[in-house]
Amino acid sequence: GDFAEEIDTLIIGSGPGGYVAAIRAAQLGQKVTLVERGETLGGVCLNVGCIPSKALISTSHKVEEMKNSSDLGITVDNVNVDFSKVQDWKNSVVKKLTGGVEGLMKGNKVEVVKGEAYFSDEKTVRVTKDEYTTQTYKFNNCIIATGSRPIELPNFKWSDRVISSTEALSLNEIPKKLVVIGGGYIGTELGTAYANFGTEVVILEGEKQILSGFEKQMGMLVSRSLKKKGAEIYTGAMAQSVEEKEDGVVVTAEIKGETKTFEADYVLVTVGRRPNTDELGLEQIGVELTDKGLIKVDNQCKTNIDGIYAIGDVVSGPALAHKASYEGKVAAEAISGKPSQVDYLAIPEVVFSEPELASVGYNEKEAKEAGFDAVASKFPFAANGRALTLNATDGFVKLVTRKEDGLVLGAQIAGPSASDMIAELGLAIETGVTAEDIALTIHAHPTLGEITMEAAEVALGTPVHIV
Ligand code: FAD
Repeated sequence: GDFAEEIDTLIIGSGPGGYVAAIRAAQLGQKVTLVERGETLGGVCLNVGCIPSKALISTSHKVEEMKNSSDLGITVDNVNVDFSKVQDWKNSVVKKLTGGVEGLMKGNKVEVVKGEAYFSDEKTVRVTKDEYTTQTYKFNNCIIATGSRPIELPNFKWSDRVISSTEALSLNEIPKKLVVIGGGYIGTELGTAYANFGTEVVILEGEKQILSGFEKQMGMLVSRSLKKKGAEIYTGAMAQSVEEKEDGVVVTAEIKGETKTFEADYVLVTVGRRPNTDELGLEQIGVELTDKGLIKVDNQCKTNIDGIYAIGDVVSGPALAHKASYEGKVAAEAISGKPSQVDYLAIPEVVFSEPELASVGYNEKEAKEAGFDAVASKFPFAANGRALTLNATDGFVKLVTRKEDGLVLGAQIAGPSASDMIAELGLAIETGVTAEDIALTIHAHPTLGEITMEAAEVALGTPVHIV
C-alpha cells in the first residue's frame, strides 16, 4: 500500500499533446506532474513517428537524387548506403529531441514520473513504476494524452516479418522487397522512403486511390512519382492473408475480383491507429467514449467528468502532432480558467511524399458544401523560376476563396516544400485575409512563395506568368 500524493495538474502521456500541455500549464502557474510509461519523453511523434520518419525520408531523398541527377549533368558511380549508419544518425536526431523535451520539463519545473497510469476513481490515478512499485496520486485536474498505437489486422498478427511503422523505422537493412498494406500517409511516406533506398515496394490500397483524404489530383501526382521509382500500386486491393517463410512473407490479396500473391521480405501494415483508451481504467470513472474508443470532449477538451480533459490522438479529429499540441495548450489554458476554445478550421494536413502534399481549411468541394459561393484558383510549379532551378516542377498551389470578396477559405498545395508553404495560408485563414492581400504582399524572387502570390493573382484575374 502507498500513501496518496496530492498533486495539482496531472498529465498522462508525454507526446506532443502531453508535453506541450505540461509546459503551457506550468507557464500559467499550475504545478504539473507528467506521467510517461515509455523510456523516453516525446511520445510516438518524437520516438517512432514524425521525426524518425522524416529523417529516413530526407536521407532516402538524397540517395534518390544522387542516382537520378544525370539531367543536371551529375552522375555518381556506386552510391553506397550504410543503412546502420543511417539508423545511427536517425537515432541521434531522435535522442536530441527527446533529451530536449526532458530539459524543457526541468526548465519548467514539471515533475516527470516514469510509469504506467491507471484511474482508480475520478480524482485518483495509480502509477505502476515497476513490478514492485506503485504510487497513488490525487489530482485536481487531469489531462489524458495517451495517444494511439497501430491497428493490428486479424490475419496479419505482428511478427518479425509482419511489421508496423515502428519496426519499419528501425530495420537493420534495406529490404529487397516490401509489401505495404494501406496507402494512407504513413504507408505512403514509408513506401516512398524505401523506394528511394532501392526497395521494390508494393502498395495495396483498398480505396480507389492512395492518400484518399486528399483531392484526387494530389493523390495521383504522388502515385505517378512512386511508380516512376519502380513501386507498384494496387488500388481496390484487399489484403487477405500472409504466409510466413523463414526469410520473408507471401501476402495474398484480392484485387478487383482476382487473387494475387506477393513475395516480400516484410509486410508493413499501416491501416490506421487506435486510441490508447482501453487500458486506463476509464470504465471505472465513466468517461464517455465514442464507438471507436475515442474520448468525447467539448470545445475546451473537457470530458464529461469534471476536471478530466483529453487531447491528441485519443480524441476525434486528424491524428496529427500539431493538432495534439494545439489541444494541449487549449486544455491547459481551460484548466487555468481562460476562455480558450479549439477551432479546427486552419489545422494543416501534410504528407511528406514526393511531391509533398498539404491542405488547410476547405477544399473547393467542402467550401461549397459548407454553403460558400467558392472559387478555386490554381497556379502550377512549372511556371515558377525557383521550381525550375530546383528541377522540381510537379505540382500546384490551389487557393479556395469566397467569390464576393476573395476571402481565403482554404488552400491545397502539391509540390516541393508544400509542407512549409502551407503555413502562409494557415495564417491567411486565421487572420481573415483576401486573395488581394496575398497578391499585394511582395514575395521575394525567385522563391516558391511566388506561386502562392500568383495563385492569388489568378483569383483576381491578373496572373503575370501564365496566360
Ligand atoms: P502520442 O505521441 O502517442 O503519445 C502518447 C504517450 O502516452 C506515449 O509516450 C505513451 O507511452 C504514453 N502513454 C500511453 N498510455 C499511458 C499510460 N497508461 N501511462 C503513462 N503513459 C502512457 N503527425 C504529424 O503531425 N506529422 C507527421 O509527419 C507525422 N508522422 C507520423 C509518422 C508515423 C510513422 C506515425 C506513426 C505517426 C505520425 N504522426 C505525424 C502522428 C503523430 O505522431 C501523432 O498524431 C502524435 O504523436 C499524437 O500525439 P499524442 O500526444 O496524442 O500521443
